[in-house]
Amino acid sequence: MQYVSTRGHAAQQNFSEILLGGLAPDGGLYLPQEYPQVTPDEMNSWRTLSYAELALEVLKKFATDIPVADLKAITDKTYIGEVYCNVRAEQDAFQITPLRVLEDRNGRKLILQALSNGPTLAFKDMAMQLLGNLFEYTLAKHNAELNIFGATSGDTGSAAEYAMRGKKGIRVFMLSPHKKMSAFQTAQMFSLQDPNIFNIAVEGVFDDCQDMVKAVSNDLAFKSRQKIGTVNSINWARVVAQVVYYFRGYLSATTSNEQKVSFTVPSGNFGNICAGHIARMMGLPIEKLVVATNENDVLDEFFRTGVYRVRKSAETWHTTSPSMDISKASNFERFIYDLLDGDAERVVALFKKVETAGGFDLSGQPGSDGDEFRKIAKFGFESGKSVHADRLKTIRLVEKNYGITVDTHTADGIKVALEHIEQGIPMIVLETALPAKFNETIQEALGRDAERPAGFENIEALPQRFEVMSVDVEKMKAFIAVNTGL
Ligand SMILES: *Cc1c(COP(=O)(O)O)cnc(C)c1O
Repeated sequence: MQYVSTRGHAAQQNFSEILLGGLAPDGGLYLPQEYPQVTPDEMNSWRTLSYAELALEVLKKFATDIPVADLKAITDKTYIGEVYCNVRAEQDAFQITPLRVLEDRNGRKLILQALSNGPTLAFKDMAMQLLGNLFEYTLAKHNAELNIFGATSGDTGSAAEYAMRGKKGIRVFMLSPHKKMSAFQTAQMFSLQDPNIFNIAVEGVFDDCQDMVKAVSNDLAFKSRQKIGTVNSINWARVVAQVVYYFRGYLSATTSNEQKVSFTVPSGNFGNICAGHIARMMGLPIEKLVVATNENDVLDEFFRTGVYRVRKSAETWHTTSPSMDISKASNFERFIYDLLDGDAERVVALFKKVETAGGFDLSGQPGSDGDEFRKIAKFGFESGKSVHADRLKTIRLVEKNYGITVDTHTADGIKVALEHIEQGIPMIVLETALPAKFNETIQEALGRDAERPAGFENIEALPQRFEVMSVDVEKMKAFIAVNTGL
């Protein structure tokens, strides 16, 4: 399996070659030359597999340059109960992402797929844990090391740290805005005592952290000497890892390949739902892929109108589903490439226009950049939006009607799913985090605390290990150099 860039120019590469990188050298995103197909027979044989076995079958189709026995060792060690089900002991470790039917009457079926049982209680563990093991394997093979450098305002940073802790050949330097994360999120990250994890609390806001990452990344000599890499959401292996749970969800919700299901996905950078799109392109019988956004509705606007209009920072709202607060969706280019039938030249032109004019227009209206909006339905995409008041209402409704507490992001998904559910087609909502992570809003909605999974009761009281630093790029570079010894 060879990979190409959405912008057409880079040389073709295999899975291992793109694993440690981010963008293609031409600024595009990697995609396989063609999507591997899954036959109905294959799908039937997958129905009885464990999650780890299923992950191996899917991964085998994309990582053709890694020996199957090695892949098996990696998936077997990643998708086990010790890693994923440590928070709800009664759950089946075989399933890893079990389904819970919330409603089933008069042909309307609403299902929640649990993706948040990993160590950081958010769905990002699903992919990041695999990435940690893939990185360690590849680095050991080449006797290489990697220093992951990034900025976080919450979920991504902690998922990366829990995936990379104790891994040979890997260090993580993670910037976060000092005293701006929730106490729970801060404790999750800062309580890690592993010597290869470095938490840096920057005396500024999240944008200052991101600017520091950019400044360090733009110093190519430093970046290469210090072997700096990233684990952001455009990483191809992360997307592939997420394809697996769409298959798992479908196979668990159906008994025959004649049946269809739909998915609703709380979306930010379009990474999670992009994996659903890829599963559908591989032949998984998905009827609809429903994009749920919060107040930051750049994707909802596109899927309703065909106009992609990225937001300025002043128009990017801080909401109570903060992991969906994005101004542009970093994985969106992958879908646009498919929507344009792989016409890389047009992709280049459109994304240049994003830089110069803040967006593009595929509505087919006079003066637009194309009319591909008419093809959206063919890809199954629909969308909806949920705002703070909807979240509160949905959290209350879900508690009252179904007897469970959901987090704010999942609530956005359920609100939108209920608007798109169809007779006879199960609607699976992807649960993207557990409510304990966003307790402030659970308090507001329900007047009580969210329940905490076992092991997290006193996380704020654990000793914390972190470095406070001013917004100073040179100091940052010196800190990295001292700790890598490179
Ligand atoms: C990252 C995240 C999202 C958004 O996922 P994308 O892949 O960026 O679309 C939604 N909910 C939670 C809890 C997240 O951590």
